[in-house]
Amino acid sequence: MTLKELQTLLAIKGITCGEEEASLLESYMFYILDKNEKVNLTAIKDKNEFMSKMIFDSALPLLLTDFNDKKVLDIGTGAGFPGSVINILSTADVSLLDSTAKKTKVIDGFKNKFFHTINARAEEYARLHRKEYDIVIARAVADLSILLELAIPLLKVGGYFIAMKGPEAYNEIEKSCHALRKLNCSVVKTDEHTLPTGDKRVNILIRKDKDNSLRYPRNYKEIKERPL
Ligand code: SAH
Repeated sequence: MTLKELQTLLAIKGITCGEEEASLLESYMFYILDKNEKVNLTAIKDKNEFMSKMIFDSALPLLLTDFNDKKVLDIGTGAGFPGSVINILSTADVSLLDSTAKKTKVIDGFKNKFFHTINARAEEYARLHRKEYDIVIARAVADLSILLELAIPLLKVGGYFIAMKGPEAYNEIEKSCHALRKLNCSVVKTDEHTLPTGDKRVNILIRKDKDNSLRYPRNYKEIKERPL
């Protein structure tokens, strides 16, 4: 896939990616692919696969709500996905959070654009930053019922959590009924896409309807052993 093709595929979805943004996305891709040879960041080593599964996929949440000028947190960002792409393609104020310092350090080392990184565990960060964010997003971090407990307390009432999933999304929603209720949030919609590689993606848009009990999030051991 060329950069032009990526721009066209995004345009077909209704996502604007100008020349400057496209070249930033490309330079970030080459930066991560290069770092990946020394630090294990992603299993994806092929440029086409990277453009499809990392860049194109990361832009799709932009279709679910208006990110411009919003305060956004990407939980478990890894090498910066989806947060870096959303940062480049919108005017959102995006923070990239990961518990692995090695990964946030790599993101910090990219010199062509500043990305705000946070090296912390989401459940610990959430207890100190309740109701600070308009949008929280996560891709490939944990099951939905676990993610909800990490993400929802961080949101302002009326804010959105976007969970980026594959076809297992529907099962996970069914298994998260109790967590959704306990955390006063609800599924607004699901958004299906097929990536250029043929992989199916399902993004879930969840709204925080009311404030949360200060009990949540619990510590990670409890969250994992007894998911809501
Ligand atoms: N979102 C990226 C990375 C997914 S891998 C992508 O889609 O490419 C999952 C990442 O989540 C890892 O980097 C791991 O360090 C981080 N992670 C897992 N649990 C976490 C937690 N409780 N708090 C913060 N980061 C977490």
